[in-house]
Amino acid sequence: MNVAIIGTGYVGLVTGAVLSEIGHNVICLDINEEKITKLKKGVSPIYEPGLDEVLERNIAGNRLSFTTSAEEAFENAEVIFIAVGTPQGEDGAANLTHIKQAAKDIAMHINRDLIVVVKSTVPLGTNDLIEETIRTNAIGSFQIDVVSSPEFLREGHAINDTFHGDRIVIGSENEHAGSIIEALFIKLNIPFLHTNRRSAEMIKYAANAFLAVKISYINQISNLCEKVGADVNDVADGMGMDHRIGRAFLNAGLGYGGSCFPKDTEALAYLGRENEVSISLVDAAIQANKEQRILFVNRVLEHFNGNVEGKKIAVLGLAFKPNTDDMREAPSVDIIRTLSANGAEVHVIDPVVKETELLTEVAVTYSKTLEECVQNAEAVLLVTEWEEFVRADWEELLALTKNATIFDGRNVLHNHKLISQVV
Ligand code: NAD
Repeated sequence: MNVAIIGTGYVGLVTGAVLSEIGHNVICLDINEEKITKLKKGVSPIYEPGLDEVLERNIAGNRLSFTTSAEEAFENAEVIFIAVGTPQGEDGAANLTHIKQAAKDIAMHINRDLIVVVKSTVPLGTNDLIEETIRTNAIGSFQIDVVSSPEFLREGHAINDTFHGDRIVIGSENEHAGSIIEALFIKLNIPFLHTNRRSAEMIKYAANAFLAVKISYINQISNLCEKVGADVNDVADGMGMDHRIGRAFLNAGLGYGGSCFPKDTEALAYLGRENEVSISLVDAAIQANKEQRILFVNRVLEHFNGNVEGKKIAVLGLAFKPNTDDMREAPSVDIIRTLSANGAEVHVIDPVVKETELLTEVAVTYSKTLEECVQNAEAVLLVTEWEEFVRADWEELLALTKNATIFDGRNVLHNHKLISQVV
């Protein structure tokens, strides 16, 4: 099938790459010229394990191409995916500017019957709005069906998740359109769930918010464990062995960040307010997540009796989680800003994020090696649990510091026999 994808970010690029890998002709469109220039040279603009190989293979096989021209992208498309960003607006609601633009772009270029698949995470009723926008702005009379197929991939595992996802949700008001989209994905051999569009939209928000609640829950249990002398890792193991609960998403730590959970929980909370339905559990998860970062930084400040002026503090990890370069809503940013504002000399290192514009206003030193980062540090903060940090030779690292205390923001160093200073 001839497929066009609007938005070549984490979701659009991975979806395009995988659809080309299973034999479709895919053209990816983006308004960001820098991204498209890189992709045309076969260079991925994002860090995602396994993506480069899939891109290389399918570009070479002429099944995958890139453009900034909507006209070129839509010329032969039978199915168009929308995978543009839906960032958080000021009131918490999702900002639909890019979605509305994408719908108008489609309408302007439509030249045949078309199925539009919405991968972006969008509030209830947005798929209806997209269909209406295309129908009212299209020149000519064509059959247009909009299908909601929310995306569940995790950054850092995006390729694997797309090939081996738990389910593909197909929300359609037209059975035939739904069956064509099922056929498009059939080679992936992933279970399908067919629903109406609004249920599909809700599945995405409900699933993300549920996971956010689970994370905030274990974080609050962890804070209590610390006070009462229980070990949250054992508690999580004991809870997780109950198959009704499961061990996933019970890793206590700094809380969630990234481009999805923070904005999707806010959008669901907004939807609740808008419809005068209480979903206070989600409000509480959001609040607990915000507090978790503050608690962590406060613990560092308390350790130095409130005075970190001139103290070297090493921060390990910038990305919001391991195996990604995504800095959106990363806890590291809040933590570094607070420490720097209190006069600390902050040194940072991340295996992938070498510098970030989110910290341009902040006096921070980017280290090239772990050793350089921790040298003479009085505190070491593990903020992102990259494998190379967890598996580092901590005995050697600690010997380089000024008798530093380690603050393990991800609760991953507890089994490290050599460490006696984990907080
Ligand atoms: P992203 O910011 O990485 O990429 C979006 C891309 O869309 C950008 O490159 C932008 O330039 C492009 N764009 C915007 N308007 C455009 C237009 N009119 N025409 C062409 N290109 C346009 O976003 P993302 O992380 O891939 O997320 C996309 C959507 O998928 C969001 O709704 C998000 O909530 C959802 N989602 C993301 C993830 C994730 O892990 N990143 C997972 C599941 C769902």
